[in-house]
Amino acid sequence: MSGMVLNIYFPFWRVHHKNHQKYHPAICFDNPDHVGHVDGHDTPAYYAKLKELDGYVGRIVDAIKEAGIYDNSIIIVTADHGGINKGHGGKTMQEMQIPLIFCGKGIKKGGN
Ligand SMILES: [Zn+2]
Repeated sequence: MSGMVLNIYFPFWRVHHKNHQKYHPAICFDNPDHVGHVDGHDTPAYYAKLKELDGYVGRIVDAIKEAGIYDNSIIIVTADHGGINKGHGGKTMQEMQIPLIFCGKGIKKGGN
């Protein structure tokens, strides 16, 4: 792990659906943005940070399984923007293209 502080934003919504309460936690990692601004996007430092965060996502999935709610959960991984050089907000594909991954109950497995 690098010397950077891991910033996690953890909003937690409780939604009433018919007679059941459903919980929709969201975990937001903002470190890739910081690394993108300091070291640049598409750099070894940027990919090292993504690899580190990937390990945290694995730990979160493990925790969902340990809690016994994995079979009734949908996990969504996405981002609010990409980046180019040390910035973002423009209209290049590097800045606009984001990952969007769904997995969990009722989600059909995709191909490669
Ligand atoms: Zn930014």
